[in-house]
Amino acid sequence: MSQPRVLALANQKGGVGKTTTAINLGTALAAIGEDVLIVDLDPQGNASTGFGIGHKQRVHSTYEVMVGDCDLRTTVVETAVPRLHIAPSTLDLLGVELEIAGERDRTFKLRKAIQALAASQGVAYSYILVDCPPSLNLLTINAMAAADAILVPLQCEFFALEGLSQLLKTVEQVRVTLNPGLSIHGIVLTMYDARNNLSGQVVADVRQFMGDKVYQTIIPRNVRVSEAPSYGKPALLYDLKCPGSQAYVRLASEIIQREKSLRAA
Ligand code: ADP
Ligand code: MG
Repeated sequence: MSQPRVLALANQKGGVGKTTTAINLGTALAAIGEDVLIVDLDPQGNASTGFGIGHKQRVHSTYEVMVGDCDLRTTVVETAVPRLHIAPSTLDLLGVELEIAGERDRTFKLRKAIQALAASQGVAYSYILVDCPPSLNLLTINAMAAADAILVPLQCEFFALEGLSQLLKTVEQVRVTLNPGLSIHGIVLTMYDARNNLSGQVVADVRQFMGDKVYQTIIPRNVRVSEAPSYGKPALLYDLKCPGSQAYVRLASEIIQREKSLRAA
């Protein structure tokens, strides 16, 4: 059985498109035939809500996984998207940092949970996408320690690059101390607005700074993408033809291509 590829969607800034990318990239990967698990590691639970998973359905959550009360498999619920499952979160996650602060393996809670999941009978996810909170806290460190690679959503706005160095520094620290195999998978530019000259400048700056780490696919700002969560649907189910959905389909195939060349290397 092959191991899942674990990608953490991380950026300590809020509102840059982490959750939107987790939802729609996950959906696009599943549509291509991959078995995908989204792990909602944000106490706000926006990824769970975005799939229409109500609070009643969150019988078990990633909070319980992090404190060791329950295994990851038990939390998993199906979504309306075939081959796409989610481990939902609840606000309890807000308190997890203090609860596990004294434990020696506090940075490896998620890694251990994912290892146990991958080893269990009848479970074969090819991709696990971890939706991180907007902070470089212990939850995000757990995601980085569990991940094969980090996917960084960056909003096309004036301050896009601000904070990126801090994020890259943290990734490097985690690589050195906790997870030697960790790499940056790529940077995805989000909420691109073609009518705004600034967006184009931001794309040029980020490409200059990060080179080919930046995916070719750019996610446009698209009202259909922002409406979809209020219907409890990924944009790809809400309006497959809209430019935002189509961009996520292209991003998924770009990521699969990148995975293939990594494996061949
Ligand atoms: P994060 O998880 O990084 O905090 P979100 O994915 O929740 O960011 O996105 C922040 C807000 O921007 C949300 O209201 C979301 O619907 C909206 N949004 C994200 N991507 C797009 C897009 N491509 N077009 C329009 N709105 C978007
Ligand atoms: Mg989010």
